[in-house]
Amino acid sequence: MKKILVTGGAGFLGSHLCKKLLEEGNEVLCLDNFFTGSKRNIIDLQSYPYFELVRHDITRPIDLEVEEIYNLACPASPIHYQYDPIKTIQTSVMGAINVLGLAKRTGAKVLQASTSEIYGDPKVHPQPEGYWGNVNPIGIRSCYDEGKRCAETLFFDYHRQNKVKIKVVRIFNTYGPNMHPNDGRVVSNFIMQALRNEDITIYGDGSQTRSFCYCDDLVRGFIAMMATPDEVTGPVNLGNPGEFTIKQLAELVIDLTGAKSRLIYKPLPSDDPTQRKPVIDKARELLGWEPTVQLREGLQRTIAYFEGLIREGVA
Ligand code: NAD
Ligand code: UDP
Repeated sequence: MKKILVTGGAGFLGSHLCKKLLEEGNEVLCLDNFFTGSKRNIIDLQSYPYFELVRHDITRPIDLEVEEIYNLACPASPIHYQYDPIKTIQTSVMGAINVLGLAKRTGAKVLQASTSEIYGDPKVHPQPEGYWGNVNPIGIRSCYDEGKRCAETLFFDYHRQNKVKIKVVRIFNTYGPNMHPNDGRVVSNFIMQALRNEDITIYGDGSQTRSFCYCDDLVRGFIAMMATPDEVTGPVNLGNPGEFTIKQLAELVIDLTGAKSRLIYKPLPSDDPTQRKPVIDKARELLGWEPTVQLREGLQRTIAYFEGLIREGVA
């Protein structure tokens, strides 16, 4: 049994990760300030005797005895990370310094949930880890993109300077149950709109692309990355290389829900990346990992989850 800290553990991905780590017989400390996370996501985990909830803001130092740290604390949806952009940067940068300080003191391994936003609006397609990206440093997405880029820099500097054992994964758009119904990201927006027969809001002309990974695949990748030998630091892309336009996603959601929704077009937010697709050769080689859940199947599971929330009257 390992003692493992998951920051952002009450969020969408954090809650799936905590559950998997508990099922594998570990002791899990779930740290969250509940900015975008919810108690509902972790309510079932309270029945595990080795689950512990720590209400804490990662911008403040923490002192715990742990062997592994997964650093997920940070709002991930543009509407939430743009709500208080200064706080978003603080969360990424101070959060990284605090988990790295803890790892330095305890000797714990620490995994950073980084992002495909490192590549910005990429001029190289698909995106391999060696691509340095095309990021606007002063735009509305910069608080998130540059915060995450600075966090990666801190991870590698703590590794070089203090020999901290680091693991950096770059996550590409991941979706599934436990996303907040008002999360604001495209998959949850489209499903909630379709289930209510409301208009589906496409930003821009819907020709921009994303590659969607199902949460269970992603969590398997996290755990495989943590288990690699110390010399494997990453960064390693984790995502599903299947690439879809946003319009195709909308049509698939309408097809799967049988909704009577119309597609409506709204202005494209500035700096919205036009294309995104991971190269996952490194994940295949180093982790023996690749995604197994295709978009149609993952959407069906996610739709069933949101239908459940509507039935219970909580969405
Ligand atoms: P989420 O918003 O559901 O989860 C983030 C969690 O962090 C929430 O529980 C939130 O309350 C918590 N949090 C935010 N600020 C905090 C702070 N200052 N102190 C403590 N807790 C704080 O988002 P998610 O999709 O689960 O993303 C988890 C991580 O993965 C994030 O770091 C995100 O940047 C990264 N990521 C996710 C995706 C994706 O597609 N889901 C893609 C790339 C990167
Ligand atoms: N998007 C959209 N309608 C929505 C929400 C998002 O068309 O209701 C678009 C958004 O402009 C972007 C894509 O879907 O091009 C993915 O957006 P999301 O916020 O999920 O993630 P990110 O842009 O960070 O990849």
